[in-house]
Amino acid sequence: MDIHQLKQEVISYSKEIGIDKIGFTTADPFTELKNRLIRQQELGYQSGFEEPDIDKRVTPSLLLEEPSSIIAIAIAYPSKMTNRVESKKGERRGIFSRASWGLDYHHALKERLNKLESFILSKVPEARLKSMVDTGELSDRAVAERAGIGWSGKNCAIITPEFGSYVYLGEMLTSIPFEPDEPIEDQCGSCTKCLEACPTGALVQGGQINAQHCISFLTQTKDLIPEEFRDKIGNRIYGCDSCQTACPHNKGKDFHYHNELEPESEIAKPLLKPILKLSNREFKTRFGTVSGAWRGKKPIQRNAMIALAHFKDETAIPDLIEILENEASPVARGTAAWSLGKIGGETALAALQKAKEREKVPEVLAEIDKGLNF
Ligand code: SF4
Ligand code: SF4
Repeated sequence: MDIHQLKQEVISYSKEIGIDKIGFTTADPFTELKNRLIRQQELGYQSGFEEPDIDKRVTPSLLLEEPSSIIAIAIAYPSKMTNRVESKKGERRGIFSRASWGLDYHHALKERLNKLESFILSKVPEARLKSMVDTGELSDRAVAERAGIGWSGKNCAIITPEFGSYVYLGEMLTSIPFEPDEPIEDQCGSCTKCLEACPTGALVQGGQINAQHCISFLTQTKDLIPEEFRDKIGNRIYGCDSCQTACPHNKGKDFHYHNELEPESEIAKPLLKPILKLSNREFKTRFGTVSGAWRGKKPIQRNAMIALAHFKDETAIPDLIEILENEASPVARGTAAWSLGKIGGETALAALQKAKEREKVPEVLAEIDKGLNF
């Protein structure tokens, strides 16, 4: 087997199946990452969504028998909507972050990795391969960085010279000793634009992120969002792009190479009020194909209430009162109470007073009190 030739064939095939960038690296352990992850854990900066076993995240040989290389792939996604929604006066909309526009990227990446696996197996039937996307054990970013896809920016995203950081990443462990590519030099330099743009100060100098303060992570949790972050969330109902849009390397980067990744504006930027009333089935039908739906309906509804409070949308008061009075979830009742207080006005305050007499759950009562004291 001519491995150099095979690498060239894999690269050409990757272009045919809609992979925008491909890189190769060794299957050596990610020692530097291990130290960073341990530090992250000690500082309590983790999101809790990651693989808990740090050794698995940094040791490819724990994931595939005798691995020799890792193939990293990237798919570019759009940063601008082609079909913008018509803004009508008084209609308030939320926003999903760009990485949740279009079809769930896990599918887009998996489909391409599956094709790539079949291609490699057709050439090397005895090859051992294992593909991963986001929820896999390995760090997509660490692999992409070492494979020369891009450098790891201070905003903690992988920045490619071609597509900026608007790329989805996936990887494949292989038993084939492909020649590794060179990593790309860090081009952040003295720039600190992303750190300045972060609304919560979640980016710590040196490319570290405190997930517990990051809006992207907070919008995906299921609990009450700590009050200090609610005003900063604005109308983001899933994710946050501020540290990406601020980056000079993303300026003018907007690629529409893949139909399935095109956002449907009514989904990516939906009206807020109707979200509050969606049944589980309606939520699935409407948002089920986007990655931002992975935590289900409740976090999106909670975030929509915070967004309505941000807009001080008085027309949302009846729906918020309905939630405060009838919703089984304390997180939903508590968020409705806080939002009613933020919007204010006689009707909202009267509903909060009434709820205070009836409510039994301490965390909801605390939110009612906050609402009454704005
Ligand atoms: Fe800050 Fe938003 Fe970036 Fe999180 S995603 S680090 S909150 S700018
Ligand atoms: Fe690097 Fe500046 Fe982009 Fe932040 S905004 S990732 S510091 S280039």
